[in-house]
Amino acid sequence: MYRLISIVFIISLLSLQSINAKEIDLVTFETSPIGKYLSYFPESGDTPLTLTDAQNVFNSGQVFTQNRQTISRGVYVEPTWFKTTINNRASLSTQYRLTIETPWLDYIDVYLVNDSGPLQHIKGGDYLPISKQPIFDRFFAVDIQFEKGLTDIYIRIATESVMPVPIKLSTVEDAIHNASNDKFQYGFLYGILVALALYNAVLFFSIRKQIFGLYALYILGFVVNSLSYTGYFYTFYTTHHGVHFQDYMDVSLMITYSVIGLHFGRALLETSKYAPRLNKTIATVSNTIPFIILSLFLIDQLHFATLVAFLFNTSFAILTIILGVVAVKAKVKVAKIYLISSVTAAMCVSLSTAAVAGIFPYNSLTFKAIEVGMAFEGILLAVALASRFRDAQRDKEQAEDFARKDELTDIYNRRGFKYATTELFTKFRQNNECFGLLLLDIDKFKNVNDDFGHATGDLVIIQVANLIANTVRKIDIVARWGGEEFIVLLPLKNEIEALRLAEDIRSAIEKLDTRYFDESVKVTASIGVCITRFDDENLLRSDTVVFEKLISNADHALYQAKKNGRNNVYIYNNETANIRDLKTEGILKVT
Ligand code: GH3
Ligand code: MG
Ligand code: MG
Repeated sequence: MYRLISIVFIISLLSLQSINAKEIDLVTFETSPIGKYLSYFPESGDTPLTLTDAQNVFNSGQVFTQNRQTISRGVYVEPTWFKTTINNRASLSTQYRLTIETPWLDYIDVYLVNDSGPLQHIKGGDYLPISKQPIFDRFFAVDIQFEKGLTDIYIRIATESVMPVPIKLSTVEDAIHNASNDKFQYGFLYGILVALALYNAVLFFSIRKQIFGLYALYILGFVVNSLSYTGYFYTFYTTHHGVHFQDYMDVSLMITYSVIGLHFGRALLETSKYAPRLNKTIATVSNTIPFIILSLFLIDQLHFATLVAFLFNTSFAILTIILGVVAVKAKVKVAKIYLISSVTAAMCVSLSTAAVAGIFPYNSLTFKAIEVGMAFEGILLAVALASRFRDAQRDKEQAEDFARKDELTDIYNRRGFKYATTELFTKFRQNNECFGLLLLDIDKFKNVNDDFGHATGDLVIIQVANLIANTVRKIDIVARWGGEEFIVLLPLKNEIEALRLAEDIRSAIEKLDTRYFDESVKVTASIGVCITRFDDENLLRSDTVVFEKLISNADHALYQAKKNGRNNVYIYNNETANIRDLKTEGILKVT
């Protein structure tokens, strides 16, 4: 909030010295901030002026007016007297509510005076507990029924921190209506933010990624800060801790959420990777500021603490934009979203500032622009966070996928094979399903390398891999087991299926024709087959043991195939029936 003030302060210097402002005619007046109906002057000297002293100053005409809806007095100003005159010429009996909508003002004195002299003195400001305020509200409010004719309202405000003074006059009916609108609007905005924060907090606790925690803290920090400076906090936490408790609280909360915001920004954009110096500077600055503020609190220097906080908070908006720009330049994927969100936030802050300063229409939405901006920022940052997480997840999946694939043939390697078969094994075990394994080795492959070169050898390996992959069914799993060795795991109805598939592959490899210039490179392959199931014997064995056994049996069959002339298929015999029948089909040889 304080980051707005520099503009406000400059504007307040532009005010013109003139005679008293014009009066408010209740017949034509509609609910609004009454900045342009106010005359004011700062109190000089150490002793507070009495009402009579102040009346004399206003009568002398040595006072200021501003043609704006709200008057802002800037940072660390002297106590200020304001005056406006109400004309109730029609003797309206309506109840009016006068509100001063800055919740952290320390001392507020309102005097009602008419021809016959002072009528009423109302005290408010946060030097009093909320129970002693004229109306239990988040800021100073008092209900007045004006007498016929002219009533002067004198207001003295003294505060240690910033003094924007949105003074508003409305009918009590309008005021209650606006207050409930306000509550609804703030509730809506806080609702969005709290939901986002809690969701990300859950993510933090479930997947233990620091950045989700930072996001949750940043957004919650903002909400708590906003609850504090809008005065809502003090409507449910009514214990009174003295006149400066609010100011200290506003300052600490403002600093806290800004510091977390910068940590979040650096983490989201991974600034340390491409801008280590900027990253370090921001980290150092944001870690130091809270200690400076704390020290200033300890020696009770609210002035300086507010000043530091105000400067830091102004820099906060700029620093987030710098972080965003640097990240966009470094082509960080989420940088644009981050930059849009920080620029939007800065614009909303400026809009609120302008509204408070009276440059822009002051209404419940322009004043809430900071919260609206933050809700927007919260959503954008959540999107950025999700997109970053999705990218990281995809990179991880790609890397895992990459590690499971054989570089040359793009089919699974050993690692990938084990990964892909794990699930199948569970299924085989559950359904007591029959399954088999083919182990294939290209015959006399050394000769291919020797005769045609390694590159041609590679080409043959690729072609054989493609061929196997295209021959097997979708559910079968193919991998390159080693140099020119391949493995296939397949669910089966019976062993004929395995042998047919093996034979299909063998005969297709035989027909393969790899070109080496004008020559044709021909290869054959031998295949060892073994089938099994998780039956009585295997039931107590682990998947790994069953697999090891299966592979060693298939290897044994392959050895037999090699031994018996190569370019053929052998199956390992687990006391299998029907061997003879299969043999007559000419596709089966038994070890
Ligand atoms: P056998 O019929 O007994 O299997 O004879 P072989 O020559 O195929 O014997 P062996 O399996 O011992 O030799 C495999 C050869 O395959 C040895 C190696 O140089 C070659 N090789 C292994 N990996 C690659 C590869 O990625 N590319 C190429 N071009 N050759 C490879
Ligand atoms: Mg070989
Ligand atoms: Mg080999």
